[in-house]
Amino acid sequence: MNLQDRYKKVKEQIAIAAAKSRRDPATITLIAVTKNGTPEQIRQLVEWGQSDLAESRVQQLQQRAAQLDEWLARQQGKNDKSPSPLPPPGSLRWHMVGHLQRNKVRSVMQLCQLIHSVDSLRLAEEIQGEAERTKRPMACLLEVNVAEESSKFGVAVGAALHLAEQIDSMDEVQLVGLMCMAPYSADPERARPYFVRLREIFEEIRFRKIGGEKFKHLSMGMSGDYKVAIEEGATMIRIGTAIFG
Ligand SMILES: *Cc1c(COP(=O)(O)O)cnc(C)c1O
Repeated sequence: MNLQDRYKKVKEQIAIAAAKSRRDPATITLIAVTKNGTPEQIRQLVEWGQSDLAESRVQQLQQRAAQLDEWLARQQGKNDKSPSPLPPPGSLRWHMVGHLQRNKVRSVMQLCQLIHSVDSLRLAEEIQGEAERTKRPMACLLEVNVAEESSKFGVAVGAALHLAEQIDSMDEVQLVGLMCMAPYSADPERARPYFVRLREIFEEIRFRKIGGEKFKHLSMGMSGDYKVAIEEGATMIRIGTAIFG
């Protein structure tokens, strides 16, 4: 399969999984994780209308975002008659999905629309400080270590609720949901209990009205397990390999 076939297939699978769980596919955002994509592949996706992109490393995020914006700037006005005009530079939505160090917060906040990987009070405080300085609130997800693996990032399951409460008390950090990564397995069904756990924590947080109306996202599901994640309520899926090969 080539890039176009893989991209089409992922979109079809999203529609099938949504139908299976009686969900509107429009409530599920496909985020293309570009870390293993070539610049050419990424440009192609953007031409096909993909506007949510993610990186897991800050330096890559900076390079990719800058390259794409330069390219979009050069394309401005060139394809006026094309049926799906390219978005203007600066209008792509970048997501930071990897572990984030506090000294990288400033650069990430200049580039991305959503940070998926907030997992400590100190990191949230750093984001709050930077958002106050620039007077721009930052949307964040709380990453939960649902697999309780010491090698994984994310707040421990038992500490998630309390941390959500603390983050919610920060004026400029908008807590819009939760994120998790299931341990890798060849069998996607093995991921289901982790997605169910994340959804339960999500429901508990909503029940306590932490985060308010904005708290509505579950970022879960990658190439191997996104169909199961959609069945369990994912509103954002992060796909790399299944698109880029
Ligand atoms: C790489 C990555 C993905 C995408 O993984 P694939 O299995 O290639 O789809 C999703 N989320 C995070 C946090 C990643 O680092």
